[in-house]
Amino acid sequence: MNIVTPPPATGLATIPPDYRLRLPGPTSVPERVRAALMLPVLSHRGPEFRTVVGETAQMLRPVFGTQRDILIYAASGTGVMEAALANVITPGEPVLIIIHGQFGERFAAIAEGMGAVVDRVAVEWGEAPDPEAVRTQLKKRNYRAVVCVHNESATGVVADIAAIGALVRETDAVFVVDSVSGAGGIELQVDAWGIDILVSASQKALMCPPGLGYVVVSAKGMATVEKASGVPRFYFDFRRAQPAAAKDETSFTAPVSLVLGQHAALTMIHEEGLANVFARHRRLGEALRAGGVALGLPIFPTGRPLSATVSVFAVPDGVDGIAIVRHLHTRYHTVIASQRGKLSGKVIRFGTMGALSAGDIMTDLHYLECTLRDLGLSPEPGVGCAAAAQVLAAA
Ligand code: PLP
Repeated sequence: MNIVTPPPATGLATIPPDYRLRLPGPTSVPERVRAALMLPVLSHRGPEFRTVVGETAQMLRPVFGTQRDILIYAASGTGVMEAALANVITPGEPVLIIIHGQFGERFAAIAEGMGAVVDRVAVEWGEAPDPEAVRTQLKKRNYRAVVCVHNESATGVVADIAAIGALVRETDAVFVVDSVSGAGGIELQVDAWGIDILVSASQKALMCPPGLGYVVVSAKGMATVEKASGVPRFYFDFRRAQPAAAKDETSFTAPVSLVLGQHAALTMIHEEGLANVFARHRRLGEALRAGGVALGLPIFPTGRPLSATVSVFAVPDGVDGIAIVRHLHTRYHTVIASQRGKLSGKVIRFGTMGALSAGDIMTDLHYLECTLRDLGLSPEPGVGCAAAAQVLAAA
């Protein structure tokens, strides 16, 4: 047998020491969380891990605004989006999907793939969904589920989940909400807003690496989960996960280290205080937006309220958003996002969530200014940082 020794791996060496992860998720993970990720792997059925799961769920409840069990999955956000639909859809039956950006479109694609009849409330990207349009649509048909994204990361707009939830509550439909990029950064009240199935994930405002998907199911939601048939589910069957969660367990082997990291991140969130965490997200988002506008980048969304966790700027004519993103990365090691699909090249997106400080925002704005200059524009030196400083001083 000819054994060939592979060349030395160099992947880790490609990460610059000053690498700055400034995406709308995943977000940078604080030192304390990274230390927890390095703890010994525990037995996923042992008493130590059961305590960690129980405390993690207990710390997630106020973040999600629920008294219910938290189902913990090894999954990305899309994994639990798919899980939510697999647990409520019966092929051939109608679901209503409110689409105000990329993630609503993703829900529609998943639902169609499962054989549901998909009706849409289509919202101009950058606008917030109008609850009246949902009310009108709900009068036309009996839906099995109504689906909405809380914080649309593609556009930086927040949907009025409380208002839509009040409408869905009057029907037999279950209300499925994605707060993958909202939870932990903006207010979320699963129980009070009538959310029947919440899906969220670890890697955004919850300050953990990607890999944990969260689900909360109401009693009404569970009744529909019991009735749904025709879409195969096993790992993601909520009927299996719910009794496990009630015992502070997961139905199958949990990503133990990630749960340890999430425990540490939630401890930090509660030490700061949830209200303070939300206020910090709001203040830093406002500061970044003020700075971007001063640098000549208009705010993309026209709808309100603007997201505190994701800031989206339109790119002036003649400038390519993808070039800004690439240059920030290669020259300043600062990783932000463009947007695929219909906004490609037209917007740039920053995360303003998780372990973020005023210093991070100032650095963003300085590098953004440098990038615009490197690309041939003439922003006034310091104008972005000055505008952000005004917001921070007033807060
Ligand atoms: N929903 C929203 C609002 C998101 O922002 C994202 C990811 O950016 C997802 C769902 C999908 O999550 P993931 O990329 O973890 O699959």
